[in-house]
Amino acid sequence: MTAPPHAPAPHELGALRQRYRLERERRVRPDGVAQYRGTDAEFGYYASDPYAVQTERDPLHDTVDVAVIGGGFGGILAGTRLRQQGVKGVRIIERGGDFGGTWYWNRYPGVHCDVESHVYLPLLDETGYLPEWKYAPGEEIRRHAVRIARKFDLYADALFSTEVTSLTWDEATETWTVATQRGDSFRATYVVNATGTLTEPKLPGIPGIENFQGHAFHTSRWDYAYTGGTSEGGMSGLADKRVGIVGTGATGIQVIPMLAEDAAHLYVFQRTPSTVDERANRRTTAEDVGADREGWAYERRENFLRIVSGEPEGKDLVADRWTASAGLLEKLLPSFRRPGDRKDFEAAYEVADAARMNELRSRVARAVTDPETAEKLKPWYRYACKRPAFSDLYYPAFNRSNVTLVDTADTHGIERITENGVVVGDTVLELDCLIFATGFFVGSFGIHSGKLPVHGRGGTQLAHTWAQQGPRTLHGFTSHGFPNLIQMGSLQNASSVNFTHVLDEQAAHAAALVAAAEAEGALIEPSREAEDAWIATIAEDAPDHEWFHAECTPGYYNREGRGRPNGPTAYPHGAVAFHQLLERWREESMGEVLRTRATARS
Ligand code: NDP
Repeated sequence: MTAPPHAPAPHELGALRQRYRLERERRVRPDGVAQYRGTDAEFGYYASDPYAVQTERDPLHDTVDVAVIGGGFGGILAGTRLRQQGVKGVRIIERGGDFGGTWYWNRYPGVHCDVESHVYLPLLDETGYLPEWKYAPGEEIRRHAVRIARKFDLYADALFSTEVTSLTWDEATETWTVATQRGDSFRATYVVNATGTLTEPKLPGIPGIENFQGHAFHTSRWDYAYTGGTSEGGMSGLADKRVGIVGTGATGIQVIPMLAEDAAHLYVFQRTPSTVDERANRRTTAEDVGADREGWAYERRENFLRIVSGEPEGKDLVADRWTASAGLLEKLLPSFRRPGDRKDFEAAYEVADAARMNELRSRVARAVTDPETAEKLKPWYRYACKRPAFSDLYYPAFNRSNVTLVDTADTHGIERITENGVVVGDTVLELDCLIFATGFFVGSFGIHSGKLPVHGRGGTQLAHTWAQQGPRTLHGFTSHGFPNLIQMGSLQNASSVNFTHVLDEQAAHAAALVAAAEAEGALIEPSREAEDAWIATIAEDAPDHEWFHAECTPGYYNREGRGRPNGPTAYPHGAVAFHQLLERWREESMGEVLRTRATARS
């Protein structure tokens, strides 16, 4: 048998391990997650909405059937699936000025989805929409969110530029009181929480960040009034500007080539390089994707989900770099199930991982002409340590004379920000504009964080109870003591890289729960025993992966280098098995969460 191209010789593995360890040590900071600062208080302007037209309205004090918190794809899909179940009074409450969620906020130049559009965009069959490109631009995705909302009449009762500030269960009426920052206080029989996970922009806590006198903003609040242009480029406002961008994650990779085109000079402040694989975006036809039959989009996304979840599947319809990497993940998962079995890990995964990473490092060397710059752009960690990125434009941008890569790994990022620029080591760089592509806090807004206080039966606050006892749910959706509250997201649930697919399955489940409760005139509330049983189910085969993530370079995947905690945080057998389990449960056991109401449903 011949070794795959880029496979390491046996003696190279040891050297590679040592290199990865040193790179990790170079980057780990004692302050971990505390190195970041939020976009609140004096930094609140970093989070304000540049796209919304603010309109005045009177506070609402009425009653709706379902309040859906969040108007991203989670909320839109929940609204759609509820409509399909015949629910009329659906009110979606959204912080942004329109539907779209991530795609509403992230409008930076070059924004694209790096999951294939034909599996990522939901409800293609129902809307009859066919994406033009294999990987859709963000604006097309945002418009699709609007298209769905229009088709399923979700604008009718939606509240935009509105943030829910508390949810309180009222025992007398068996409804939730939903309060917002605009003075609303209305009742909802059911609440679906779809607030997303990577929603709060984070800024680096670089000393002096508040002193910068140039123009500064976060990529998720792009200031086109300053840069000019659109998400397709043409930023004429930058033609005479020295621009700095901090961050080379999935966002930085997309925006940097666009800035390189338009800025007088671009400084890219890199701390850890991403893996940047081939993009190969191209126009597609209905024939290419088999869009000539009903149900084609459902089949395609199921096929993608099965492959990236490591399930046996004969054909690969999407055939891209995600599906090409699925085999690698498949090799990694068994070593999470057999703790301490490093021999197995080495034999099955490590060699394949090294081959993949060697391939990606040689891609840098081929694309970047200056060897010193190329060396700095090479990622030295295992493939699954960080979110992979994909671009055919990123590396060539560093061959331009107006682009400078500033590696900040040795100084743990930019050391200081002054009135006029930044300091890295001995170098002071003057800048007109500083852009933060520094990502988002993970799950910091949701109801578990307590930022959105939820008071259930007897005034119990969900975040307090969970802080003491750990998260308690049935299937991730419902919790004892919090009737008619349905949570979407990945906690005690299952996730996948194609998150809209996961959200759609969750939306269908939420809508089925509401429909069943309506049909029976019942409340939805699992027993404590049902929660216990679910937690035991997900704990039983919970993977032991903390050791793997603790060997990775820091980032949001591993709590800035501390490792990813083990424990019953997600269903361990993947999204495909989880969706099957939910379907069976809806058919056979859904009645177990339906409780008799004390009051008549008004
Ligand atoms: P990330 O958290 O992935 O990246 C943040 C970047 O900022 C990292 O490169 C980080 O470096 C860098 N950084 C942070 N602090 C400093 C500092 N003090 N000095 C220098 N650099 C610093 O955020 P992104 O917005 O890129 O991506 C977030 C997620 O959003 C992705 O992982 C993905 O899930 C999603 N996304 C999806 C896209 C899609 O196409 N589907 C497109 C874009 C984003 P370091 O690594 O060293 O911490």
